[in-house]
Amino acid sequence: MNLSDAARKRWQNPAYRAKQRAAVARKPGWQERFWAKVDKHGPVPEHRPELGSCWSWTGAKSRHGHGWYNPGSPPAPPPTGAHRLAYMLLVGPIPEGLKLDHLCRNSACVKPIANEQGPAHTEPVTQRENVLRGNAPAAVNAVKTHCIRGHPFDAANTYVYGKGRHRRCRTCKRLAWRPRPRRPRPPPKPLKTHCIHGHAFTPENTMIYSGARACRECRRRNAREWHRRKYGWKPRV
Ligand SMILES: [Zn+2]
Ligand SMILES: [Zn+2]
Ligand SMILES: [Zn+2]
Repeated sequence: MNLSDAARKRWQNPAYRAKQRAAVARKPGWQERFWAKVDKHGPVPEHRPELGSCWSWTGAKSRHGHGWYNPGSPPAPPPTGAHRLAYMLLVGPIPEGLKLDHLCRNSACVKPIANEQGPAHTEPVTQRENVLRGNAPAAVNAVKTHCIRGHPFDAANTYVYGKGRHRRCRTCKRLAWRPRPRRPRPPPKPLKTHCIHGHAFTPENTMIYSGARACRECRRRNAREWHRRKYGWKPRV
């Protein structure tokens, strides 16, 4: 008889089975263990003090600061955000596809119902509404009623593109494509009277080639230097 046979044999004993079941019943359920990790006297949100204290999650948190809880093996629900579990326990199932929005902007808060301290802190909203309620650029831009040049974003003046994700002011779009007058060219600079080494551009000293001028004295100097480097002797000046 091996160990699993022994376990099966024990489990067939009604007295042993009743004792085991009593032990499981005595163990606090996952719901009690869950609420033991909730501090109902958490901080009051600064931007909305009328909401009252948060129910702070004191257990494990996800990277984003949301409480995370594993209720255990079935029939308990799978591991989920603590704010979602609290909502499911006290209010009911969260409608399909909806997110729980934190009115208090405290990710670790799990207060789904109103009490004498104030209203609920979490409520189910669509993902779109959740984004628009926050401080993300999408939320900041969505409340704008005029473009940066002051044209209104009304039906006639708004160009919507990217499957409805972006919008643009039609007036500004038109202005961006209008032909603009060219900037006039600056007047040509007066010709220099001396080369960079200070020789005068007199007719005898000036060489003209393909529209440009060169100083003959400097060319002579460069040629002498080239000779000196190549042949090691200095030609007569
Ligand atoms: Zn809260
Ligand atoms: Zn505009
Ligand atoms: Zn020169």
